[in-house]
Amino acid sequence: KQRGKANWVRYAPGMEKPAQAHAQLGGDLRRALDAGEFALVYQPIVHLATGRVVGVEALVRWFHPDRGMVSPADFIPAAERTGLIVPLGRWVLRETCRQAAAWIAEFGPGVLEKAAPNVSVRQLHDPDFVADVRAALADSGLPARRLVLELTESAVLRGHQVLRVLHELHDMGVRLALDDFGTGESSLSLLRAFPAAVVKLDKSFVDHIELDEPGSAAANARQAVARAVVQLADALGLDTVAEGIENQEQADRLLKLGYTVGQGYHLGRPVSAAELTARLAAEQRSVPAAA
Ligand code: C2E
Ligand code: MG
Ligand code: MG
Ligand code: MG
Repeated sequence: KQRGKANWVRYAPGMEKPAQAHAQLGGDLRRALDAGEFALVYQPIVHLATGRVVGVEALVRWFHPDRGMVSPADFIPAAERTGLIVPLGRWVLRETCRQAAAWIAEFGPGVLEKAAPNVSVRQLHDPDFVADVRAALADSGLPARRLVLELTESAVLRGHQVLRVLHELHDMGVRLALDDFGTGESSLSLLRAFPAAVVKLDKSFVDHIELDEPGSAAANARQAVARAVVQLADALGLDTVAEGIENQEQADRLLKLGYTVGQGYHLGRPVSAAELTARLAAEQRSVPAAA
């Protein structure tokens, strides 16, 4: 069921039972974390009108010795179930802060407005989470306002316990983003209780948004949702990021609808820290005054 409706997996003899596969992957994750098999890639978050990088999202990758690169969709759920997301997420947080501070030290404070790791709701239940964030900022020297924690809207965020943690982070100056916005069950009520600074319009509303299909209710609905989200965000004083932009026509359409910042393969794929360093250096050479 977790794979979604479109992905039925037939049971075949010899296939591992889910519980067995789960236990194996869980043990493997522990080993992988100790062995240093995880790495972060960074996807630029881009000012649509100028193409300049305004931030990065940090995305974890697992370089497995036998399986090669494993995508987070294939191991984050297991890491959440086993609890290993807590130490893994702590590493992601520290590494993101360290790398962002290094970029700012190398290129100056104008280079990156923000760095955004993803955080699982499971981490918010960890009693050490706020202290971990504080330590990651202190040890790296990254200013709190430059850290944006991405929380998936649907996983978020009921209950006083979690909201208390989010308000503590907010009071520290850390910003919170609602990821995949529009796909959760109660986007609007959530926005009232939740100290969000950023909403990330989900890719599903960006897909095909450039197509004008006369009479297509679906096409009209996508544009209507995208427009409503940016208007709501503006009214509430939140920043927006449109996710999953794959061509210039989508970027143009989103600009017209009121988005100023976006992310997607067309604007930059997730790349290694070294590759992102090269892009930042190239940008700085082309517009030295902005540094
Ligand atoms: P997300 O946070 O919504 O990240 C965006 C995902 O969309 C990334 O996939 C990114 O590579 C992909 N993407 C970006 N632009 C485009 C585009 O134009 N077209 C298409 N088709 N895809 C695009 P990725 O890296 O596989 O990550 C998938 C999800 O895994 C993330 O969704 C996030 O929920 C989770 N994740 C990734 N890294 C971490 C992490 O360090 N911790 C936690 N808790 N979750 C993570
Ligand atoms: Mg994200
Ligand atoms: Mg997203
Ligand atoms: Mg997502």
